[in-house]
Amino acid sequence: MANFFKFIFFLIIYINQAYSNELVNLRFGSNEEKKRIVLDLFEDSSFSHKVFEKKIQIKFNKKIKIKENIKLKDNLKSIFYDIDSNILTLNFKRSIFSTNIYLLKKKNNVFSRIVIDYSLNNKKTKTIIIDPGHGGKDSGAVGIFKNLEKNITLKVGLLLKDKFEKETNYKVILTRNKDLFLKLRNRTKIAKKNDADIFISLHADYNRNKNARGISLYTLSERASDKEAAALARRENRSDLIGGVDLTTESSEVTSILLDLTKRDTLNQSSHLVKFLIKSFKNEMNLLQRTHRSAGFAVLKSLDIPSVLIEMGYLSNKNDSKLLITESYQKKLSDKIVKAVINYFDWKDKNNG
Ligand code: ZN
Repeated sequence: MANFFKFIFFLIIYINQAYSNELVNLRFGSNEEKKRIVLDLFEDSSFSHKVFEKKIQIKFNKKIKIKENIKLKDNLKSIFYDIDSNILTLNFKRSIFSTNIYLLKKKNNVFSRIVIDYSLNNKKTKTIIIDPGHGGKDSGAVGIFKNLEKNITLKVGLLLKDKFEKETNYKVILTRNKDLFLKLRNRTKIAKKNDADIFISLHADYNRNKNARGISLYTLSERASDKEAAALARRENRSDLIGGVDLTTESSEVTSILLDLTKRDTLNQSSHLVKFLIKSFKNEMNLLQRTHRSAGFAVLKSLDIPSVLIEMGYLSNKNDSKLLITESYQKKLSDKIVKAVINYFDWKDKNNG
């Protein structure tokens, strides 16, 4: 028996030398909305990919070995690896849509992972949640001209809804459309309930330094989100956190890996949205230095919906304050946001398909 294990041991070493990398396993997660396939590889490998109606091709830059008898499941019909071109082809039973393919480097994990997310539904209508900050008994910041943050965020929110509905076929939902107090958790709940594609929270900042001015954009900081993710996972059913990927049949270790993946992908998407916002604002509006910042805002803590908080300026600054209460500036601001969101979705659709 000992010899047998020795044999296996040397066989593994041999395989590792003959091939720099090996596909060792496929993992599957799904529910009605989203499907995910995770490819576990021994090492990180760069690759390019092409998506077809019922097929995905992944071209590796180095030869890989495919472990025998890899289990296929779900919508995946067959896999085929062409050793000459280094192309791995995944054939599907049904047409695939909204594909998103990305690498998660090995780092401290056992495997390097290529994640393939896709949908079986051709969901064309995007849903955007606009969240005018504060409201009701919570006025938010009080400006130097006594203007209230809650009124400014609502005005811009209403302008945004109007503009999106005129210029796009997106579905736009406001978390509040009047002067009403709304708990932070209920704001993200609205996003989750409506299966939102993105969440934009509107605010105006206040600083003791009256000279501080400009727009800043916040995404959730990874650190804060780790803590929040742990707390959320304790409180809630995990499967409802993962952007619809049902993990109830996975082991807890796998669950935490996939939870981590979703969170990172969401943060990644949020950062892309921020890039398009900055690009849209850049030449014509005042931006705070280091425009893109991260913090543990409760309202950004939807683990599966890309979320951005826009501080539209400083109510403590005379110039910003004047602008923020002017309708022409509010319109300009919403024009730029609409443009950025359209560009973000265009980019996202092209990149994923
Ligand atoms: Zn605020």
